[in-house]
Amino acid sequence: MSPSLPLPAPAAEAANAAGRTAACELRARFGTGDPVEIARQLDVKVEEVEGDGGFGTVVVFADYMPRPPRVRLFMPAITALDRRLAGYPERLVGGTRPIFLAHELFHHWEELHPERALRRLYRDRRLPELAAGAFAQELLGLRCHPEALDRLATPC
Ligand SMILES: [Zn+2]
Repeated sequence: MSPSLPLPAPAAEAANAAGRTAACELRARFGTGDPVEIARQLDVKVEEVEGDGGFGTVVVFADYMPRPPRVRLFMPAITALDRRLAGYPERLVGGTRPIFLAHELFHHWEELHPERALRRLYRDRRLPELAAGAFAQELLGLRCHPEALDRLATPC
């Protein structure tokens, strides 16, 4: 990733709040925080791809396409990350797959609510990513924002 200016704190906080709010709304609407069930209810197709979604040195774990709505989970990258995390004492039960699915569901939520989409309110493309992480953290009850995983995604 190329070096970039830090996000202004108010914009970052707005993004995190937007992600948490969307997670609370969906959990209340569907009565679950399970991203698989929420995807089913929202008619978002979830595909596990046994290929590489990245390009060059960029690792891609998942992506979202709006028409028709679908999330692709790139299993080799997710499995490799899970293997790397296995040595951590507070590893995630069930691996990181639900985090990546939840993250992409936030992008779907933004598609469904364009008037509230962060990319319309701000010009910084990092904000929806930050919000998607906060969404996954809230939905799954994670102790840390999943952006911490980005630092573990690169082999040492
Ligand atoms: Zn994203």
